[in-house]
Amino acid sequence: MKYIEEFQDPELARRLLDDIHATVTRPWALMEVCGGQTHTIIRHGIDQLLPEQIELIHGPGCPVCVTPLEVIDKALEIASRPEVIFCSFGDMLRVPGSGRDLFRVRSEGGDVRVVYSPLDALRIARQNPDREVVFFGIGFETTAPPNAMTVYQAKKLGIPNFSLLVSHVRVPPAIEAIMTSPSCRVQGFLAAGHVCSVMGMGEYPELAARHRVPIVVTGFEPLDILEGVRRAVLQLERGEHTVDNAYARAVRPEGNPAALAMLEDVFEVTDRAWRGIGVIPRSGWRLSARYRDFDAEHRFSVTDIATLEPAECRSGEVLQGLIKPHECEAFGTTCTPRNPLGATMVSSEGACAAYYLYRRLDIAAARKPETGTAPETAPETAPLEASPVV
Ligand code: SF4
Repeated sequence: MKYIEEFQDPELARRLLDDIHATVTRPWALMEVCGGQTHTIIRHGIDQLLPEQIELIHGPGCPVCVTPLEVIDKALEIASRPEVIFCSFGDMLRVPGSGRDLFRVRSEGGDVRVVYSPLDALRIARQNPDREVVFFGIGFETTAPPNAMTVYQAKKLGIPNFSLLVSHVRVPPAIEAIMTSPSCRVQGFLAAGHVCSVMGMGEYPELAARHRVPIVVTGFEPLDILEGVRRAVLQLERGEHTVDNAYARAVRPEGNPAALAMLEDVFEVTDRAWRGIGVIPRSGWRLSARYRDFDAEHRFSVTDIATLEPAECRSGEVLQGLIKPHECEAFGTTCTPRNPLGATMVSSEGACAAYYLYRRLDIAAARKPETGTAPETAPETAPLEASPVV
């Protein structure tokens, strides 16, 4: 298939790997920002093919994983109300809140529906004028424009029974938070190509210069990842730290002007809590004052719900790249895709789910003699299929 198979070519992958092996002279730690990139890396064993001096640290770029527990609890509270039709992408239904998830709410009689576009939720609102229809709007800069467009349409068409529970997050402030953390080991970034296809690359040069890190805009197929690594390592070996676009087939430096204009109209930047990490200044979007009537948090008075994360789950450390998923005691034992303790085990883009899907047999073999706490090896429920939440 064009644009997919041609970026999985084994011969080209071998040549890129040879180039990287010939370039690297000392240890480097790179972070791939996006969970989709993490899955490609683990699925194809790219981390195991790279020179041992190169460590890939898995970043926080899984929107389902970083949506804070208290936002999940707000969704559960709203979805439980008899007057509400609660619409969401499929990924979010199994994400555990404090005591249950959206599947449980549905089994208890809540009207929870999986949709494939926020505009589907708007159509449901028009078809059900006597019900309140809420769409769960989460994700990075990639999903924010269609969600913004939906609210814009709701206002323009006069659909008062529609609202958005919004928890959008932005990548550049997360990179800033990672680089200013005392425990940071990251020396270069593979930036998320789809985010840059919307936002462009304008926010990155200042970050690269101030923290002296190369930032390479990278795609999602195996050759994309290898080319991103190759370019980042080349810069590091030369002592350079610039922004480079290795995903030019999708990313223009200025981004998508129409999407940017929609974001500017409907949203405003706000501080946002990231699950397991905490509040990152200016790292999110909320509805601007012009569209506040469509904010589900205000409409259903759930703004004061606050929740503590379960202590057993170390997803915050996973999301910051401080530990690998299998270094969590619960991995594959008390935490599996069927019984997840944290969102990183639920989401199709979560790092814990990636290790569970593609590495659990190796991890079980390595763990058993030492600890006796081998991950389950029986067939398991796979994480939910990828949705448009990115
Ligand atoms: S394995 Fe489970 S408990 Fe451990 S960090 Fe991942 S999601 Fe949390």
